[in-house]
Amino acid sequence: MKLSGKVAIVTGGGGGIGAALAAGLAQQGAHVVVADLDPVRTGQVAAAVGGIAVAGDASRVEVLKEMITAAEANFGPVDLFFANAGIGGEAGIGESDEEWQRILDINLLAHIRAARLLVPGWIERGSGYFVSTASAAGLLTQIAAGPYSVTKHAAVGFSEWLSVTYGDRGVRVSCICPMGVNTAIHHNALAADDAASQLGANVVAKAGRVLEPEDVAAITLAAIEEETFLVLPHPEVLEYYRRKGSDYD
Ligand code: NAD
Repeated sequence: MKLSGKVAIVTGGGGGIGAALAAGLAQQGAHVVVADLDPVRTGQVAAAVGGIAVAGDASRVEVLKEMITAAEANFGPVDLFFANAGIGGEAGIGESDEEWQRILDINLLAHIRAARLLVPGWIERGSGYFVSTASAAGLLTQIAAGPYSVTKHAAVGFSEWLSVTYGDRGVRVSCICPMGVNTAIHHNALAADDAASQLGANVVAKAGRVLEPEDVAAITLAAIEEETFLVLPHPEVLEYYRRKGSDYD
């Protein structure tokens, strides 16, 4: 898919990978709706990319509808949706229902709710592109980040299901699985004094460097042009997980 003139929504677009995706899309001539929790950061990124800002919780249906309405009113029908907003979650099985629900809402259910709103229209038009930011922790278990890893596995599964179910009706799907990208989420994980931070430090040390959000955006947008399903911005990290099996020390 060529991006010039296309209409895109990016959730979690107020910073990190989402802001870099918004900038990369705008550079390639796409129209962008930037959506994030924080109105100030959302407005700043939207202004920088000549787009529209929608501030709110991207897991809520009414906020998702607001993004789609803003895109349609200003630019036209939505061509691409980037389900990129996400949060960490490092505790294990003892975590409360409320905490599991909070992480499930944004890391998984937000993707399902957005696709439910957009896919019927895409089938009618015979074209649409859903891009999910999952994680390397959605392909291989990250022991010290249970709820995060579980919800990211589910996001990979949802992307795959969406792709095989609706691909023959023009719905394209890419699933990004990064690790060790230089953003707030990554730094928060490293700052915690626990096994997850040790894992984060180890994988970055093994890979030799952290990726910048702009690296991930460039790799992702190139993958979209080629309609690649699984986008692995940091294959060295994934290789490291595979070699280590369940022993992450
Ligand atoms: P980040 O913290 O810089 O960006 C995440 C953004 O999502 C923030 O701007 C935050 O305000 C927003 N957000 C969180 N909850 C939201 C909600 N309910 N509604 C709307 N916006 C919300 O981190 P990032 O690394 O840019 O994260 C982007 C995605 O990449 C996430 O899904 C994350 O899990 C994934 N990811 C990141 C890494 C990494 O190493 N940085 C690795 C694997 C996956």
